[in-house]
Parts: sequence; C-alpha cells; structure tokens
Amino acid sequence: MKKISRRKFISFAAISALGFPLSINASQDKKNNEKFDEYYDVIVVGSGISAHICATYLAKNKINVLMIEKMDRIGGNSALSQQDFAVMGSDLQKKENIQDSVELFLKDLNKAGEGYNHKEQSLRLIKYSNEAYEFAKSCGIKYSDKLKFLGGHSVPRTIQTIGGGGKAIQTIHNTFLKEGGKFKKETKCDEIIKNDKGEVVGIEVRENYRFDRNLKNDDRENKTGIKKRYCARMAVVFATGGFSRDVEYRSIENPRLKRAYTPSNLGQTAGALKTMAKAGANPVQVSLSRFSFGIPTEDLIYGIIVDKNAQRFMNEDGDRQVLSNKILAHMDNLETDIYPIVIFDSNGFSNSHDPRRMQSFISSGKMFRFENLEELSNFFDLDLNELKKTINEYEQGLSNQKDKFEKDLSKSKNSGINKAPFYAMKAMPSLSYTPGGIFIDTNMKVLSIENNQPIKNLYAIGEATGGVHGASRLTSCSIPDCMTSGLLCAKNIISEKLI
Ligand SMILES: Cc1cc2nc3c(=O)[nH]c(=O)nc-3n(C[C@H](O)[C@H](O)[C@H](O)COP(=O)(O)OP(=O)(O)OC[C@H]3O[C@@H](n4cnc5c(N)ncnc54)[C@H](O)[C@@H]3O)c2cc1C
Repeated sequence: MKKISRRKFISFAAISALGFPLSINASQDKKNNEKFDEYYDVIVVGSGISAHICATYLAKNKINVLMIEKMDRIGGNSALSQQDFAVMGSDLQKKENIQDSVELFLKDLNKAGEGYNHKEQSLRLIKYSNEAYEFAKSCGIKYSDKLKFLGGHSVPRTIQTIGGGGKAIQTIHNTFLKEGGKFKKETKCDEIIKNDKGEVVGIEVRENYRFDRNLKNDDRENKTGIKKRYCARMAVVFATGGFSRDVEYRSIENPRLKRAYTPSNLGQTAGALKTMAKAGANPVQVSLSRFSFGIPTEDLIYGIIVDKNAQRFMNEDGDRQVLSNKILAHMDNLETDIYPIVIFDSNGFSNSHDPRRMQSFISSGKMFRFENLEELSNFFDLDLNELKKTINEYEQGLSNQKDKFEKDLSKSKNSGINKAPFYAMKAMPSLSYTPGGIFIDTNMKVLSIENNQPIKNLYAIGEATGGVHGASRLTSCSIPDCMTSGLLCAKNIISEKLI
C-alpha cells in the first residue's frame, strides 16, 4: 500500500474542501455532468461495518462521500452480530502478555480455511487488525477490557464490542455524519456506470426502494423506487455483505443449502454480487459456506441425533461444517424441512464442557427438558416405538463398544440415553456467513474476470469479497476482515487520487 506524504495529503484535502473534482479530468467531468443527478467523490454501497470504517475514514479526510443502504435500517449483518473481533498485537494482548505472531494467526486461519485461503488477503487481515481496531476506537466504538480465547485460535486474541454490533454501528454512524458524510437509506444500487474507456464513473440507484420480504426474489421482482444516477468522481466501493439469505443463488452453488436456516439480515441477497459480475467482476469460492450451530458442536458427541423417523443417520462427532453438511444432506435425501433432534440423557447433559451454557439454552427456550421419552416423543412428534428401538440399538453398541456409525464411544464418555431427565433440541445448522464473493487485490480493487486487472475505480470490501477465509471462516475473523479491508480501501483511494 502507498504511503500518503503529509505534504501531498494537505494539498489534497485543501483542494477537496474547495469542491473541485479530483479524479477525472475536466472535460470528462463535464461530459458526465450532463448525465448525472448527483455528484460525489466516493460512493460506498452498503452500511455494515466495512462500509462504515471505509466511509468514516474518507469523511474524516474531507472526501465528499455518500453511503447508501437499500434497507430501511442501517447495519446489515454487522448490526445483528456480536462483532467478536480477532486482533493481533492489541493493547489487551500486551496487557495480558500474550505471545502472538503473524505466523501463528496465519496457521489458525489456514487450518479453518483448509488451505483455500488467499494468503495475501489473510496477511492483510492479520497485519492491519490492530490498526483497524485502533481506528474503530477513535470512531467511538467501545470494547471490553477482557480478551476471549475462542475455538480455533491458538492464543486469546478476540476482543468484544460492548453493547454488540447494533450499538457499534450506531456509534460509528454518528461519527460518520458528524464528519460530514452523507447517508441515504432505502436507496438500492442496481447498476455500475462505466465511461467509454471502461472506467467506473458512477452508479444507477433507486431511491425510495422498499425491500419486500414476501417476494421470492426481491432483486428480480421488486420494481419500487425512483431511478437516479449518481456520479462518483473517485471511486465506487461495494460493501454489500454476503448472500446467505438468497435461497435461489446459494442453492445453485450448493443444492444442500436450499434448506439451511439463516439468522442473517433479510437484505443479504446476491443482487449486489450479480451487479458487480455484470460489470466484469469475478465471483470466487461462492459454493463455500460457513455454518454456526445452536449448541457447541463438541458437546453433540454426548447425545444422539435422530431424524423425523426417529432414526440415527450419522456419527455425532464432528466439527460444525461436517455435522451441518451431513444434516442438510440427510434432510435433502428425505425431502423434508423438518430438522433432526439432538437428545441427551442427564449424564450426557452434565458431560458437556460448559453445563451452565447448556442451562442457558433451556432458559432461552432452545432446549427442552423431559421427565421421560413419552413426553419427548410427543413434543417433537416422533414415533415412540421407533425412538425406543433406536435408543436400544445405540445402548447395545455402547455395551459392545461398537457403533453403527463408527462413533468413538470412549470419547463420548459412554453417555447413553437411559437416565431421566432427557434434554432435546433441534439440530439446526445455520448459515451465518458466505465465504465466497468478489475477487479483489490487496488494494481492495475489483479484478476483471476477463484479464485479472483492476476495473478502474471499482472496489469491494468485507463479506462481499471472496478468498480470505477459505473453506470455513475462523471464528471472530469476519470483523477484522471487514475492518482492515474498509480502512485500507479508503487509504488507497486517497493515495491513488492525489494530484
Ligand atoms: C448472527 C450473526 C453473528 C455474527 N457474529 C460474528 C462475530 O461475532 N464475529 C465475526 O467476525 N463475524 C460475525 N458474524 C459475521 C459478520 O457479522 C459479518 O460477516 C459482517 O458483519 C459483514 O459486514 P459487511 O460490512 O461486509 O456487510 P453487512 O454488515 O452485511 O452489510 C451489508 C449491507 O449492504 C446492504 N446492501 C446489499 N446490497 C445492496 C445494494 N444493492 N444497494 C444498497 N445496499 C445494499 C445490505 O442491506 C446490508 O445492510 C456474524 C454474523 C451473524 C449473522
């Protein structure tokens, strides 16, 4: 990344403040003047954490920046998330004397990503995570003073946002507006406008667009709003998030995903990805998916999972990806939308690595306690006789130490399903993240599918991009991806357009 010299920066900021066009020459600008309804230096599409970091940095540096959001509220998935944030070299790691390194973090990312990770993007995430964290703090976002040691990380490095993602987004949004940034909600970007040299010069939007959750495909069927053309003199940045809500698109990429539940924002569709693809961008790794589970998957080994016919169908030992894929494949085979049920007896329940957490699933209404199997089978509409047969077979396996699905029964501490009370909940893989997206370079420039060269003035950041996380994103690593890509994108736009 280019460094901005202080002298260059001052001249740039001063010229920008006078309102002169900076990035395109006068005749080009005049030509475009006739075509556009509104003029900005940079337009950021989306209003999640990647958009806010990028746009706020630009606004702080006196760039005339517009942020648009298609929904009627800000924040996308960033506002729904806890925003757990893995940072290397943070003040908290220093305070707790945690020995971390680029190599160690990279190893953890690669392990989760099964080597699909694009190394240069992973290195960007790691090396700039602390700078992005410091910038977020300077924008008012507050973090807890305790580090978390999350699964898949070799050392404690995850920082927690105080008040969760919703609060973080509202805080940085206020900073963005205070710094002079402009914002429009219910404004959807439909097209990327290029000049005759193939350079991106603006976008076509619909103002007063109203997302309609009842449509099968909102991107295709929704005709609301008033068309406008906005000029972006310096850059257009897509910070449009993933496509976990787009059942049609994700099922084309991976048919099993048809039945996956998602906790995502309603607006997480593939429309923006297609808009970029139409402009020549390259969607990569889009058949990958990242699941979360209602319950720590390491505890599932202490119970059994049965389908709607009260049959076991898999080894309950596995990570979130393996288990989720098996469950979704089985539901597909049965052509059912009914999720399997995970059942523990009282021994299995207390074997879990965090019984207090298990209790919290009961108080939050996710897990249920039953005095006997009759109650349980009634509640979940399972055939009691079939359930008893399945349990008997499992118990026999326990006494012979041989499981039908080759589960390592010694690892399960020989937890059977015989001691009341029983506990059960839906085994529901939830698609909370899509690792695939638009292919970018380390300056966050969108690369053309035709020649792998940057499409001039077009950038993409955050979950909208693909390649950094690979097969399965390491926990708490989307936020550092979103923040570092947003911050570096803003810096690169400024340094590129200096006169
Ligand atoms: C429940 C949940 C919990 C999570 N917890 C964590 C966690 O603790 N740590 C972690 O690292 N990750 C977590 N994640 C993942 C992480 O929150 C997201 O990957 C991240 O917030 C994405 O940020 P973003 O800025 O890329 O996109 P988003 O925050 O999703 O924002 C994209 C925005 O763009 C808008 N948009 C899309 N298309 C258009 C268009 N054409 N025109 C205008 N606007 C458009 C969308 O409506 C949306 O508001 C979680 C995800 C979920 C769902």
